[in-house]
Amino acid sequence: MMSHVLPTYNRAPISFEKGEGAWAIATDGTRYLDLGSGIAVNVLGHANPDLVAALTEQAGRIWHVSNLYQIPQQERLADLLVDKTFADTVFFTNSGTEAAELAIKMVRKYWDHAGDPDRIEILTFEGAFHGRSTGAIAAAASDKMVKGFGPLMPGFRQLPWGDMEALKQAITKTTAAVMLEPVQGEGGIRPIADEDLRQIRALCDSAGALLVLDEVQCGVGRTGRLFAHEYAGIVPDIMMVAKGIGGGFPLGAVLATENAAKAMVAGTHGSTYGGNPLACAVGARVMEIVADDAFLAEVNRKAALFRQKLEGLVAAHPDVFEGVRGQGLMLGLKCKAAPADLVKAGYAQEILTVPAADSTLRLLPPLNIGDDEIAEAVERLDRAAASLNG
Ligand SMILES: *Cc1c(COP(=O)(O)O)cnc(C)c1O
Repeated sequence: MMSHVLPTYNRAPISFEKGEGAWAIATDGTRYLDLGSGIAVNVLGHANPDLVAALTEQAGRIWHVSNLYQIPQQERLADLLVDKTFADTVFFTNSGTEAAELAIKMVRKYWDHAGDPDRIEILTFEGAFHGRSTGAIAAAASDKMVKGFGPLMPGFRQLPWGDMEALKQAITKTTAAVMLEPVQGEGGIRPIADEDLRQIRALCDSAGALLVLDEVQCGVGRTGRLFAHEYAGIVPDIMMVAKGIGGGFPLGAVLATENAAKAMVAGTHGSTYGGNPLACAVGARVMEIVADDAFLAEVNRKAALFRQKLEGLVAAHPDVFEGVRGQGLMLGLKCKAAPADLVKAGYAQEILTVPAADSTLRLLPPLNIGDDEIAEAVERLDRAAASLNG
């Protein structure tokens, strides 16, 4: 008989009933050190007291109102995001996929408004992940995601990741936009070089194309900057955010410049739940905590410590690991073994990790993980790797 929950996931036989900071506690009492964070979502760990307070305070007042009315919590979060980024305006969604949909729609509307409605080609990259809607799978176009779901939405062309020559060839005066993750997440923790991102910005500028960044996974302090593109010293025209922004509450956003968003007038887009008071009350608290220089300095200090220990781990298990990659606390272990086997061996050592493409094991701890927890994580990973050899 079919599972009552649509079986689109291969789930591990573990269920959690409680979380405390970097720890997820299973129903059998086992305490797992959580280096997955619900895939880069729980940026401040589980049951963070500040976020619990923000949520419950709001829950006692009003949960949901329609976007037919003013929503002060939403305006406040928009103010915080505009204040800390390139953006002039923000639309709130419930997920990264919905943010991708709006980003794509905004690009199309921009060119339609410019009197060039046929200018629809968005250049994307192999290994990309932008979500699971029909638009988002067309954008990334990996075989695994698109097989059986055709015909795909037209207007996307995938280029090899990091191949600047291919991009130079492909980008023309008819390119609508270039869309990429500054650090590919699902694709295997693959950062774009700062120099390449600067060059992509310059190529977009000379072709007149919009630059759309997907910071759903790498944004909100994950790389040690509030947003990963800050390392390159450039700004996008449109940016997708989700995962970390809600600290565990479903929340996403599209940030845009006034120019990129100018055609998105009343009636062009909407969402029932997007920007709901509960989500935005939590999101604002996340932003207040994460968008702080002292907090981000700590993320970088911890990232350096973690990375150094991971280099030691790789050196100790040359037959299991090939190297460390990533930026900040968005870390990957490039594996010789199958990452799924390491994830499984991790369960036995009571540590949660996430596999990714390109033979990479993802480590996405809460950004406020403790130094002792980092040391503990590396010990558990060491035992997991050793168990694969035996
Ligand atoms: C997770 C992810 C998405 C999709 O977000 P959902 O909230 O799962 O819809 C889009 N882009 C990137 C880079 C992601 O990591």
